[in-house]
Amino acid sequence: MLLSNKVCVITGAASQRGIGRATARLFALHGGRAIILDLDGGQAAEAAAELGEAHRGIACDVTDKAACVNAAARVVEEFGRIDVLVNNAGITQPLKFMDIEPKNYEAVTDVSLRGTLYMSQAVVPHMRAQKSGSIVCISSVSAQRGGGIFGGPHYSAAKAGVLGLAKAMARELGPDNVRVNSVTPGLIQTDITGGKLTPELRAEILKGIPLNRLGDAEDVARSCLFLASELSSYVTGATLDVNGGMLIH
Ligand code: NDP
Repeated sequence: MLLSNKVCVITGAASQRGIGRATARLFALHGGRAIILDLDGGQAAEAAAELGEAHRGIACDVTDKAACVNAAARVVEEFGRIDVLVNNAGITQPLKFMDIEPKNYEAVTDVSLRGTLYMSQAVVPHMRAQKSGSIVCISSVSAQRGGGIFGGPHYSAAKAGVLGLAKAMARELGPDNVRVNSVTPGLIQTDITGGKLTPELRAEILKGIPLNRLGDAEDVARSCLFLASELSSYVTGATLDVNGGMLIH
């Protein structure tokens, strides 16, 4: 039970096959109270109900600062504290560099980067008051290698921004015993990627992955558990690669 009675907020966590949902399930298995935030409040509530009575689902668009502040306030009102935040919500658009229109740039950076900023700003006052907290930011291998299969350059830029933001937050919040770390997943089989891989493309991708398989949402969830829990009590400002060895060179 690595998260006994810890109150854990996870954004974008209602999607059935998603990384956030898998993380919520694992946190609940480890005794945590999972607070599932997502655009669709009904789906978030269903996802939380599936985990049991101790968990909650709340509608929250992370690009809306007031919605983030309200969601955090609701959690504190009911549970008294917030111990963990996983900034997971994100969207991709497979566009080429010259095809990126302002609306594409805004949509992608809004969810990943602005969302990480707003949701973190919403929970930090509570974590500071408690003098403890762990924030995990989901970035992407696309930030590190410049582009991916499903995300365009604007996605790489947004996810690279998340890495910088997380490190800056780690510096500033360390004295309050609030840790901030990032996870950079490789190619993970979720709704973002699922069904879009032809056998030929899959075989080509596997040539570049030493572990010779795509990742599962649970692979990423286990890394989030490590960073959320006291197992990583002296880790802050770090980036944990969860990519099957894709970046070994
Ligand atoms: P999913 O699409 O399965 O889950 C993302 C969730 O975020 C969805 O439920 C989505 O809701 C929700 N969401 C979208 N916009 C917002 C918003 N404004 N506010 C709140 N929630 C929102 O994706 P994954 O599980 O694959 O991805 C999770 C994270 O991991 C993302 O940040 C992604 O960029 C990152 N990642 C994923 C990789 C992969 O291979 N799958 C690789 C590297 C990183 P809705 O469905 O209604 O849009």
